[in-house]
Amino acid sequence: MFQNLSERLESAFKNIKGEGRITELNIAATVKDIRRALVDADVNYKIAKDFTDTVKDKAQGSKVLLAVNPGQQMVKIVQDELTELMGGTESELELKGAPAVILIAGLQGSGKTTFSGKLANYLKTQKGKSPLLVAADIYRPAAIDQLTVLAGQIGVDIYSERENKDAVAIVQNAIKEAKSKNKNVVIIDTAGRLAIDEVLMKEVADIKAAVNPNEILFVVDSMTGQDAVNTAKAFNDRLNFTGVVLTKLDGDTRGGAALSIKYTVNKPIKFVSSGEKMDTLDVFYPDRMAQRILG
Ligand code: GDP
Repeated sequence: MFQNLSERLESAFKNIKGEGRITELNIAATVKDIRRALVDADVNYKIAKDFTDTVKDKAQGSKVLLAVNPGQQMVKIVQDELTELMGGTESELELKGAPAVILIAGLQGSGKTTFSGKLANYLKTQKGKSPLLVAADIYRPAAIDQLTVLAGQIGVDIYSERENKDAVAIVQNAIKEAKSKNKNVVIIDTAGRLAIDEVLMKEVADIKAAVNPNEILFVVDSMTGQDAVNTAKAFNDRLNFTGVVLTKLDGDTRGGAALSIKYTVNKPIKFVSSGEKMDTLDVFYPDRMAQRILG
């Protein structure tokens, strides 16, 4: 991920790195290259422009122009702004409550079920929690099968009701089950659709209203770039989710979604997921990601 962006930024800085003095003209040229690199990484033009306007303002301050090593100062400004663009600091899960309830939403194929399994595994192995996975997809029996297999792999209990066609009732029953079995986190894998539709949105909104989750995590395939950002906006308008999960980072070479989502919906990216193995889930650290982009 970000290979191309990293190379492009490196070349944007080439003209000013190592220079003893840089001028406003040098800054303007570098900023223009950065903007192009961001747009080519599938960042929306307005976001790229806002970003580079801020960088330019900061770089034109005397601190950079008069610095001993102005090129390095400029790189530092870009790194700080990239960190901010991606959310500043990492955002922890809110897990209060007995049990804490985490609702997973997103389009079909985004990686919801895979992520639900990874999250359960993460909470069990890294946080010492006792999770219950809930298969709340009432349309696709295969989705229940898939989650059952994952739950078996990671040794976590699963709750499902194959005959029940009321997703809200299933979730309410699951929470009762969690209480009776002393499970302290309930992870609800909801149904998805290939495109955003009213039935999908209403169903997730109804579950939200019924169980008041601690977290609503919106799962999105990072490979879909600006589409991912548009989908995030639609889900957030309806659900006011608490965080984003970017999946399939292993296939995303450009990184546009990671760079644009926070700006667009003002919600933190909480996890990034790459690969199908259950132990490949990472907490998202904006500063480390910015560092990685700038090599
Ligand atoms: P859901 O429909 O949203 O529940 O999506 P799934 O969890 O079933 O994932 C859809 C497809 O993407 C499956 O074939 C998964 O194995 C695959 N998948 C999920 N997460 C990742 C990932 O991080 N990287 C890759 N390469 N594939 C993934």
